[in-house]
Amino acid sequence: MVRAIVGANWGDEGKGKITDVLAADSDMVIRFQGGSNAGHTIINNYGKFALHQLPSGVFFEHITNIIGNGVALSVENFIKEINSLVERGVPKPHILVSDRAQIVMPYHILFDCYEEERLGKNSFGSTKSGIAPFYSDKFSKIGFQVNELYDDVDALKEKIDRILEVKNAIIRNVYHKEELKSEDIFNKLMEYKELLEPYVASTFDIVHDAVTSGKKVLLEGQLGSLKDTDFGIYPMVTSSNTIAGYGAVGAGGIPPYEIKDVITVVKAYSSAVGAGEFVSEIHDEAVANELRKRGGDGGEFGATTGRPRRMGWLDLVATRYGCKVQGATQVAFTVLDVLGYLDEIPVCVAYELDGKRIDYFPSTTKLKRAKPILEVLPGWKCDIRGIKKYEDLPENCRKYIEFAEKAVGVPFKMISNGPKREDIIYR
Ligand code: GDP
Repeated sequence: MVRAIVGANWGDEGKGKITDVLAADSDMVIRFQGGSNAGHTIINNYGKFALHQLPSGVFFEHITNIIGNGVALSVENFIKEINSLVERGVPKPHILVSDRAQIVMPYHILFDCYEEERLGKNSFGSTKSGIAPFYSDKFSKIGFQVNELYDDVDALKEKIDRILEVKNAIIRNVYHKEELKSEDIFNKLMEYKELLEPYVASTFDIVHDAVTSGKKVLLEGQLGSLKDTDFGIYPMVTSSNTIAGYGAVGAGGIPPYEIKDVITVVKAYSSAVGAGEFVSEIHDEAVANELRKRGGDGGEFGATTGRPRRMGWLDLVATRYGCKVQGATQVAFTVLDVLGYLDEIPVCVAYELDGKRIDYFPSTTKLKRAKPILEVLPGWKCDIRGIKKYEDLPENCRKYIEFAEKAVGVPFKMISNGPKREDIIYR
């Protein structure tokens, strides 16, 4: 049985926590896309952790964790994260790296930085982790798959030379920075080869066997629907597909029809990092600041970058679309406790586009002109953390949940009312 956990919004919905909750009941957790450019925050018995590269199943000894072929693998971050878990008392995780995963090269990070610098005020607000240059190279067929490290050394050297010819021409003529040396890149790859050796496996068969023998497999997505390269707010998206459908590709060895449950995480209000369309954004700085300060666990600031997140009200148009794009079978509704301070809670129920009311999520050029149509719901004015049963939630809180559920059209089966593993209400 394969389940996926993915985000319906701009990311930071609290997928890490929900994955941590569901991982306990899984045999395998697989990361299928993205790199170490975003983070999951997980709070459990061992403490508080921000995972960037590792799957969220690493806290459980019974789980096989896998870095799938669709992932952008930063070897440095991968090793650093494993070491930091072990240093903090977590048993050494069981983790495998697909031999078809590709490696984020040092020059991908440089190119990400150089390009953002060149673009100046038109920059993408990249996390500068090399993700866009990485995926560009992957699809230009000049990336390095992990298995290549263990192959013919001469072939590797020849490939590096060939790639650097083009990279250095760009560095020289466009960025005016210091050129790359083949030897440095080769030495780096040899370093990676040694570091990765204990983890590399032909995961295709391992995953395929797990799926066909009925093991419980969890696919873990990064970011959310609205950051998907195809379905998101292009071009202010990430450079990979964040949708569950891509899980069949990026996790490796999973027939598409095996993904039975798509748990889509929806946040009770909105937040976004970086530039891009965000119709329900709160433009009153004082109101946004208050929500940012109270949001998540200790404020809405990027888990990887520390950047303050842009804040908005729950956008039901974007969320309905985000759930459709994922093929959501159920919703996990998170950070609801944060809204307990508000007398009234605005939610975005439709958009106004060129003077007309619309209830669909349009493509980016139209989205730029869309304005939010808000409806105001009464707040519940109390702390709902610690509540374990749905019936025990205040009436206005239940009404808020049911209002959103009706608009989205997918059952809200999990309600998260706090950052900890046990802060969860099942319906
Ligand atoms: P992810 O990338 O989707 O996992 O999201 P992040 O980890 O970046 O952001 C979610 C933040 O919200 C983290 O600080 C979590 O600890 C926190 N969080 C998750 N669920 C809840 C919740 O129900 N209530 C509160 N207050 N915080 C939560």
